[in-house]
Amino acid sequence: MKIGFIGLGNMGGPMASNLAKAGFDVTATDLSADAVDRAVDAGCRRGESVAAAVGDADVVVSMLPAGAHVRSVYGDGYGVIANAKEGALFIDSSTIDVDSARDVVAAAAEKGFVMVDAPVSGGVAAASAGTLTFMVGGEADAFARAKPVLEKMGKNIFHAGGAGNGQAAKIANNMLLGITMIATCEAFNLAEKLGLDAQTFFDISSTASGQSWSMTSYCPAPGPVPAAPSNRDYQPGFAAAMMLKDMRLAQGAAHKAKAATPLGAQAEALYALMESAGKDDLDFSGVMKLIRGDL
Ligand code: NAD
Repeated sequence: MKIGFIGLGNMGGPMASNLAKAGFDVTATDLSADAVDRAVDAGCRRGESVAAAVGDADVVVSMLPAGAHVRSVYGDGYGVIANAKEGALFIDSSTIDVDSARDVVAAAAEKGFVMVDAPVSGGVAAASAGTLTFMVGGEADAFARAKPVLEKMGKNIFHAGGAGNGQAAKIANNMLLGITMIATCEAFNLAEKLGLDAQTFFDISSTASGQSWSMTSYCPAPGPVPAAPSNRDYQPGFAAAMMLKDMRLAQGAAHKAKAATPLGAQAEALYALMESAGKDDLDFSGVMKLIRGDL
């Protein structure tokens, strides 16, 4: 099967490489010549342009920064829809706003193409290991066609419903993660100020009702979870800038859907303070520094 892969950044690079390793005939392209060189070293063919990469592809996969890039790459800017061969399946794994996802799927459908939105959870390490989680929006038959390709890049593949529902699942999940991380920071800070050390509070709360993934897998207080970014001065991991992007997507979607998300709004404001302080390159659990007053 021939795959055209567009967007070979931190995530797309290793994802394209895993598809090539799995035996697919992958033609990879990016605006960065260095990124394409790395993909070629990893077993992909060189795609000189988006049009050239998708021309004879059975499946097109994209991993781009934001909605505007996805609109431009599929639409008139770079022309996936105009240049793909009849019957090709499109998979966009970028994290983008729900409206852009649905608009691009509709534009593809107008020209007879089937498309899914398939954003991922898991960072660069999961992209490299092929253990990403995919949340897929689209028709059942499109999901069935996409699954064997996604399985070569990830280990959990969920069908979230119709077009755009993958993005909806992704931003709702990340809003929850962003909020629980801040709540966890506040609780550790309070416990410490009241005289408990981080390990003691962790031992109690991680087996009590305050437990969450933010605490047990990614504890923002240094010590209790050795692999967490808090033990390497909050080097990412998942950067606060990326979390802020997802929080803004969640707030944009919430306004449109008239969904009340008061804690999501507060969380967005706090990650934006990390951005204002020029510290959004820290891991998002570095919001602990903000809560402690030492950012
Ligand atoms: P990145 O900035 O490293 O890579 C994006 C790539 O797209 C760049 O190499 C860029 O040159 C390329 N690109 C942009 N416009 C293009 C065009 N017109 N034609 C060809 N290539 C083009 O970003 P990333 O970290 O790989 O993230 C990609 C997506 O995955 C984002 O939507 C991000 O939110 C999401 N995501 C990232 C992570 C993470 O930990 N990095 C985790 C989950 C989801």
